Amino acid sequence: MPSQIERLCEEKNIRLTENRRIIARVISESIDHPDVDEVMRRASKINPKIGIATVYRAVKMFEELGVIAKHDFGGKGRARYEKLEGEDHHDHLVDITTDEVIEFFNEELEVLKDKIAKDMGYELIGHKLELYCRPLKK
Ligand SMILES: [Zn+2]
Repeated sequence: MPSQIERLCEEKNIRLTENRRIIARVISESIDHPDVDEVMRRASKINPKIGIATVYRAVKMFEELGVIAKHDFGGKGRARYEKLEGEDHHDHLVDITTDEVIEFFNEELEVLKDKIAKDMGYELIGHKLELYCRPLKK
């Protein structure tokens, strides 16, 4: 079965090479926002011949096609990626002690951001929220 990213590329009439299919699959199946090195590590388990340049090019292409999202959590300059799912929207909480990224969705927040924009005379068309956190001491 083709992965979600492969399907989206098909819809856009983009033909994928076997290596790009592998990279598409790896990102589609990742839930942890991997960086390019991590995508590379996972892809090379499927095909050890995949090179880092291929991964960089594929990721750049998927990003330009709008089928994956690029994040720079904490402005560290280390881009991390995730697949984009149509209407699905979520925000991110970053554990600064482990770099773990946890996704969340908060209905009240969604309502509030709409209200803030409206109160200021704008229509909200998108937003991005990242919370940087340290675990509470137990
Ligand atoms: Zn995410």
